[in-house]
Amino acid sequence: MTTTQVSDFKRRAAKYTAVSTGLDSLYERPIWKAPTHTALDELIDCILSQSTNDANRDKAFAALKVNFADWDAVLNAPTQAVINAIKPAGLANQKAPRIQQVLRTIYAERGTLSIDFLREMPLKDARNWLTALDGVGPKTAAIVLCFAFGLPAFPVDTHIYRVGQRIGFIPSKMSADKAHPHMEAIVPGSDHYHFHLQMIWHGRQICTARRAMCERCPLTQVCDYYAQTHVTEGKSKHG
Ligand code: SF4
Repeated sequence: MTTTQVSDFKRRAAKYTAVSTGLDSLYERPIWKAPTHTALDELIDCILSQSTNDANRDKAFAALKVNFADWDAVLNAPTQAVINAIKPAGLANQKAPRIQQVLRTIYAERGTLSIDFLREMPLKDARNWLTALDGVGPKTAAIVLCFAFGLPAFPVDTHIYRVGQRIGFIPSKMSADKAHPHMEAIVPGSDHYHFHLQMIWHGRQICTARRAMCERCPLTQVCDYYAQTHVTEGKSKHG
């Protein structure tokens, strides 16, 4: 990184403490607990969630569980049967073969349909292993590592990407994929789980895609978007 890039990163990272304190004033701090479902369930769930909403993802995941005895049955089923089951999630023609290919790869490499071994790997290796699977990108990998294992990975979903850009954590031209390592360098590892959820809640309730409700937000003092819009308003009033 150049000196300018380093100082720009430092400016963005320096917002963290104030933003975290502000979000703590609005939302609880959820504590990670080992989920009742498996890490492989989490991975398949994430693949189903691509380009759809939570409700449709949940319908498709439930349909897989009802229609197939286990992941082995999904792997060995005719692809059309998997397509039919996951139709509520959309893009079923792409997702069904992708899910079967992921299961096939896991079985071929591990001899069993489980990805629990990732918990014991160095984080970087676990992430690389996951993203080497066809159709698994940085967000899906981070969700599995953070939610299934409680590891310090920071998923950047659409809310976090938008809110992070408005606050000024994430540069406007940075892609969502690149925002993952960027946010992981800003947010302390022990905070990843709760800060991720708090940012999503903030994006759903106050800093929404439709409108940033800055009048209800405790982050105005550190938010780039607020500073910019405030200056613009001031100029238009007096200009
Ligand atoms: S001050 Fe406004 S733009 Fe900034 S995080 Fe809060 S709601 Fe979003």
